[in-house]
Amino acid sequence: MRIDVLGVGFDNITMDQAVAEGVRLMDTAGAHYVVTPNPEIVETCRQDGEAMEAVNGADLVLADGIGVIYGAKLLGTPLKGRVTGIGFAQGLMERMAGNGRSLYLLGAKPGVAERAAENLARQYPGLQIAGTHDGYFSEDGPVTEDIRASGADVVFVCLGAPKQEKWMRRNGEAAGAHLMVGLGGCLDVFSGEVKRAPAVFQKLGLEWLYRLAANPSRIGRMVKLPLFLIHTAGERGRRR
Ligand code: UDP
Repeated sequence: MRIDVLGVGFDNITMDQAVAEGVRLMDTAGAHYVVTPNPEIVETCRQDGEAMEAVNGADLVLADGIGVIYGAKLLGTPLKGRVTGIGFAQGLMERMAGNGRSLYLLGAKPGVAERAAENLARQYPGLQIAGTHDGYFSEDGPVTEDIRASGADVVFVCLGAPKQEKWMRRNGEAAGAHLMVGLGGCLDVFSGEVKRAPAVFQKLGLEWLYRLAANPSRIGRMVKLPLFLIHTAGERGRRR
């Protein structure tokens, strides 16, 4: 059963359960996709019906972001814990490497996915890189054809939210991979372009603060966080 946080239904599972479910979906016929919403994306979904549909239509909705965990708790329906997109991706790649499965990397600025591919192939011996494509294209057709031709088992779709969620919903069948995962800025991290927050920030759930300090232009996006908390408090009042 999913836990509703302001209209987005989150799967109440641990990281290990999420990775096991990802592996199962990868081995199941059909096109499946995973989303990893944080409070900012929940707020975006409240304004954008297509984004809400794409997020709730996913096979797995993982709570990426400490704000979602607080929100669910405040609403009296706590989640088991945070399942970050990047942690999920790493767990999945470990399992894929063990079985020689193949991964396609889609998104980020030209050259970034290629550099990420080189690093990941080194970090996960056995993982096959099926192909890469940057995230700045105008037509979906040639991209889905390239993914289909690559025969990839899994695609990491890193186009930013809510573009990647809508893209996965629209293009899953055409691309032919059994599993797509929407991962925002992860290719920038895997390529070494952007550093992930130090462990202490990760532990405290303050990665967003580290990213803000490293890139102050993100401040405009941050206004959605207090909005999320205000809306959650309002919803709590209604539920009581
Ligand atoms: N991006 C893209 N195509 C676009 C817009 C964005 O490939 O049309 C990429 C962008 O280069 C970046 C990622 O999507 O690598 C979004 O990163 P951001 O840090 O905003 O995502 P978050 O992890 O915060 O969701």
